Amino acid sequence: MDELRHECGLIGAVATDGGNVVEAVYLGLYAQQHRGQEGAGIVSRSRLKTRVHRGLGLVAEVFSPKAKEYLAGHMAIGHNRYATSGKATKLRNVQPLLVDCRGGKLAIAHNGTLVGAAELRRRLEGMGSIFQTTTDSEILLHLAARSPKRGMVARMSEALGEVRGAMTLLAMDEETLLGYRDPMGFRPLVLGRAAERIYLASETCAFDILGARIEREIQPGELVVVHGGEVEVSQLHPAGPRRQCIFEHIYFSRPDSQVFGESVDRVRRRLGAALARRHPVEADIVIAVPDSSNGAALGYARESGIPFEFGLIRNHYVGRIFIQRGSAGRQNAVRVKFNAVREVLAGKRVVVVDDSIVRGTTSRQLIGLIQRAGAREVHLRVSSPPICHPCFYGIDTPTWDELIAANQSVEEIRGFTGATSLGYLTEGDLLGCVGRPQDYCLACFTGDYPTEIPARRGAHRGCRMVTGVGDG
Ligand code: SF4
Repeated sequence: MDELRHECGLIGAVATDGGNVVEAVYLGLYAQQHRGQEGAGIVSRSRLKTRVHRGLGLVAEVFSPKAKEYLAGHMAIGHNRYATSGKATKLRNVQPLLVDCRGGKLAIAHNGTLVGAAELRRRLEGMGSIFQTTTDSEILLHLAARSPKRGMVARMSEALGEVRGAMTLLAMDEETLLGYRDPMGFRPLVLGRAAERIYLASETCAFDILGARIEREIQPGELVVVHGGEVEVSQLHPAGPRRQCIFEHIYFSRPDSQVFGESVDRVRRRLGAALARRHPVEADIVIAVPDSSNGAALGYARESGIPFEFGLIRNHYVGRIFIQRGSAGRQNAVRVKFNAVREVLAGKRVVVVDDSIVRGTTSRQLIGLIQRAGAREVHLRVSSPPICHPCFYGIDTPTWDELIAANQSVEEIRGFTGATSLGYLTEGDLLGCVGRPQDYCLACFTGDYPTEIPARRGAHRGCRMVTGVGDG
């Protein structure tokens, strides 16, 4: 699909009574399936053994009852993978990564992207490190393995001090579970508890399925160590400035999660209401591009007073076989994934709310679908500003050359999609919908990257000043 892709969900669990946590980690991965659908893995620790099981595909496909039985243990970490830095989906790139090193077994699961990973990797290879995967997460393992410090916590702490970028991670050895969120806090990490269970997860929706309560969000730069049934949180690196990924609210996270201290559903409804104020239009119905735009479409409908309808139906059972790369694959994926409800759309002036436009090909297909179902007008409203720049912090975006807003004006994008009118949110509108606007990264809209980035390739026209065009 022509959409931004999440990169990775994390879940870690420790049973303070020595019970088995593997089913809980499996369910936590299952709840966070939206964060990565190309592979999944669990590393577990029982009294005597560290075990690993990883596979390509969805969580339910990867872990058979037999695999879960094999993994039984009182401590475990799990990872949902969507490939970015490791690119092609190969089993060896599926996490958690597990190695034997001087200090014993060490496993890590990472959400994010290291800045300057290629150079770090070359430096480590020059010193004799042999890499087994193409993921940048393995760099952390090699740095930790080389550390002269004693103990996993000290080694990982030293390794984390040598890297920059988006790093939310879980690590474990035979005795200890560790969690960490980088000083800018790009990706979320939350601590939760249930009776005799301690959990760390990317999203709170994982706790709901486990009957756990949210204890606290791990703050930027903090290290959490779970050892001997005790939880110790310390400030490993000075925090800030915070640069939390605003797309966790716009699109990536589940609406039933609390992310960066706010309800994702509430933020999305506010985005929709702001969009209705910014780009009002005379129309008969508001529809969403399901599922991620449902909240924003409801917000638009409520603010505008235009009724919300289900005009597009999403097939939830499209497997990864249809997630093909290349534009032909993307076009098929749109037809397979969505269908229009003729009875809702025929003869209507339709507002269709989507969360983002990446290359523009999905929007074009969807608008064609709505028009063929008989809609009289199709007004496209986008609950984010134009994406003009790629992400270097763990989200798979195309290059500047492929991002339609980096190369075309809003009027040209409207023409390409075939919409009657097109309206985006402004950056100010977007920030007005979150509680602490100063804490967010907006680099894919502004190009104002909070860290160094790889040298820019390809020409682009930069971003437009207007955010809405067309007869609406
Ligand atoms: S560049 Fe965009 S997608 Fe990447 S972290 Fe920043 S806000 Fe999120």
